[in-house]
Amino acid sequence: MTCGYCHPGAETVLWSGDRCRVILADEPGFDGWCRVIWNAHVRELSDLGDADRNHLMGVVAAVERTLIAQLRPVKMNIAALGTAAPHLHFHLIPRFDTDANFPDPVWTARRHTTSRLDQNAVAAQLRTTIREAIAS
Ligand SMILES: [Zn+2]
Repeated sequence: MTCGYCHPGAETVLWSGDRCRVILADEPGFDGWCRVIWNAHVRELSDLGDADRNHLMGVVAAVERTLIAQLRPVKMNIAALGTAAPHLHFHLIPRFDTDANFPDPVWTARRHTTSRLDQNAVAAQLRTTIREAIAS
């Protein structure tokens, strides 16, 4: 089976490093939904050594800080699921009272699929700020 994280189709990359990358997910109805994807095949967070795990969690925290600062969500949701694809990644989902499922979990039937913000503008905004946040 081809892994969609190793061989993505088109994806909107916001930041890319040697070990992981940050993408803006195509999730209609949810503005600013990002994924932090470990580049190599690793199944669980605890499979990473200390340095790699600290690097990954530092990137996750930098993306979270950036999303809060730039988009002002009501709450951040962070999840590591990926049960079908054993390829470690985190979802960082800014929640708004206008999003597709508010206040229910994001993985329930969507009430609408209308995004509030222009996704190209969000990508451009986040690309710069995430790079700065990870570097600091
Ligand atoms: Zn993979």
